[in-house]
Amino acid sequence: MGTKELIEALREELREHNYNYYVLDNATISDYEFDIKLKELQGLEAKHPEFFDVNSPSQRVGGAITKNFETIQHEHRMYSLDNSYSKEDLQDWETRIKKLVDGDIQYTCELKYDGASISLTYEDGNLTKAITRGDGFQGDNVTANIKTIKSVPLQLKGNYPPKFDIRGEIVLPFDGFNKMNQERIEIGEEPYRNPRNTASGSLKLQDSAEVAKRPLECLLYNITGTNLNIQTQFESLEKARAWGFKVPSIAKLVNSIDEVLEFVDYWNVNRHDLPYETDGVVIKVNDLQQQEELAYTAKAPRWAMAYKFKAEQVSTKLNSITYQVGRTGAITPVANLEPVELAGTTVKRASLHNADQIEKLDVREGDAVYVEKGGEIIPKILGVDLSKRNNLSAPTQYITHCPECKTALVRQDGEAQHYCPNYNGCKPQIIGRIQHFISRKAMDIEGLGGETVALLVNEGLISNYSDLYELTKEEVIPLERMAEKSADNLIQGVELSKNIPFERVLFALGIRYVGETVAKKLAKHYKSIDAIAKATGEDLVNVDEIGVKIAESVSLFFSSEENLRIINRLKEFGVQLELSAEQLIGQTNVLAGDIVVVSGVFENVSRNELKKLIEDNGGKLSSSISSKTSYIVAGSNMGPSKKEKANKLGVLLMSESEFLQKIQKSL
Ligand code: AMP
Ligand code: ZN
Repeated sequence: MGTKELIEALREELREHNYNYYVLDNATISDYEFDIKLKELQGLEAKHPEFFDVNSPSQRVGGAITKNFETIQHEHRMYSLDNSYSKEDLQDWETRIKKLVDGDIQYTCELKYDGASISLTYEDGNLTKAITRGDGFQGDNVTANIKTIKSVPLQLKGNYPPKFDIRGEIVLPFDGFNKMNQERIEIGEEPYRNPRNTASGSLKLQDSAEVAKRPLECLLYNITGTNLNIQTQFESLEKARAWGFKVPSIAKLVNSIDEVLEFVDYWNVNRHDLPYETDGVVIKVNDLQQQEELAYTAKAPRWAMAYKFKAEQVSTKLNSITYQVGRTGAITPVANLEPVELAGTTVKRASLHNADQIEKLDVREGDAVYVEKGGEIIPKILGVDLSKRNNLSAPTQYITHCPECKTALVRQDGEAQHYCPNYNGCKPQIIGRIQHFISRKAMDIEGLGGETVALLVNEGLISNYSDLYELTKEEVIPLERMAEKSADNLIQGVELSKNIPFERVLFALGIRYVGETVAKKLAKHYKSIDAIAKATGEDLVNVDEIGVKIAESVSLFFSSEENLRIINRLKEFGVQLELSAEQLIGQTNVLAGDIVVVSGVFENVSRNELKKLIEDNGGKLSSSISSKTSYIVAGSNMGPSKKEKANKLGVLLMSESEFLQKIQKSL
């Protein structure tokens, strides 16, 4: 097989695996094998730029940065939908349209997905454009971001028309949304409020690699174009599915408004089991000929109608407001409610988020409040029924001191959350931090669970994570539900965690804003905890992707005598607090202080390998040329505008071989 054929075969294979996994929800290969094949493809593509393809599966990892999204005219306008709220509304609609068309009318019923609408253009089976709805006439070109969404086919299957637009909704399923939030909470960031806004915000992120990390999905519902040879809406859904699009199979073809109402009633209840958010049903005249006769009003098609589900709201009494202290010391106010049935579950609590939210809603203990359940795990309070308020009630006074340790709370400028600053003395913080320390992605201490940690702290056996390493079997056996065997497992688990590599230990320490990725970056750059502890804020900010907020948090952590003492103890117990000898192989500091831009295509190493070499040798990568750039490693095909900019700023161009020599000398 020639190289070109090999590349094509790999692309085809990866495309098929993507389709099986993301469209059909049916994995046909392990993640690991997929990565190996993808790396192989990326390697070949880097060596053979002549076979570049914008729609190769390798393009899905993103990396393109868009500073300003270009505005593009929609070739076919994107309309809104008229809304209906009752059986009568739907019957009125049928009466209206029956006057305008002949013959019986069939309807397709679909769910109204709650996300961000998108219009995709395909030419010769390739995705060429993805535009947001905008004002319906023109939207933003977000193609680079959309390409990272794995259920959007970059290349179609089967028998598709040469050119068409397809419309759909970008959604963020609950699972992925909750996972994203969990990760944010873990590093001390505020969680996102709801899936819809997060989905639409994602489309406008400047860094497509960030979009690639978000578990977005694209659900399609409408094909638009000329000479498509499609007769009905239902047929168009089937065709779109056959070409490789994700089209939920929930759509149903019915013969009357009564049947439409059955569909509505069914999904009004069962939508709560769907993996993503829906806010109604969309009913469409099935026959496209009839659709054409009905045409459009100034803002919506006459042939379609949305039926909005009634938001699931109930009114209940707010018994009390209590305050929770999280692992990072963040305070979250919680509304304790008179238990009430909502969307199939009993609701007892709702989050009030922060002081601003309480002030905005003006909620008070004893109020009758409206509660709604959206995509979040915890329901939210929409407002207060003022007609039921007790005249004597006074506005809620937010707490000034930690409910657990009584320390005065602080709130930094620009932050919504109050914090308890008693880092090493506040129980929920201590327990939460140790629970984070032992968790799977951190020290992965088997044989020790979150509840046992709480027990150990409450019994006074440990007060920080370094104490874990001094625990003895005799100490833990008397604990509740602890048997000889489980005590052994616990001690052994702690012992084994001494093999966990430095970068994970760094993550395990639970420094605010230091998530897995940041920990990796810091470990790689500084190589040891001592070096990080010594780094100044200015020094930290100079590490790739470390911003001011993270730098300040790291500096603050290491400015505490207590933290330094705990880290010293970890060191004495043999926990990995520097990179191992193996990790250090190939790593030098020859490029320390260099800010390097990589441009063009290379012969001996792939672009990614080159970037790794730069970072492994202490250099800092930058994506754009500026007066701060030390030099550019320039391969072939470097863009003319970049060349010009480099010339203008007098930035040195270094060839691939010159660069490799530079780092070789030091090895
Ligand atoms: P609205 O924004 O309330 O005018 O509703 C119109 C929007 O509903 C469209 O722009 C689509 O983004 C969205 N929508 C969600 N699901 C569907 C569907 N199955 N068919 C048509 N539009 C839908
Ligand atoms: Zn406290």
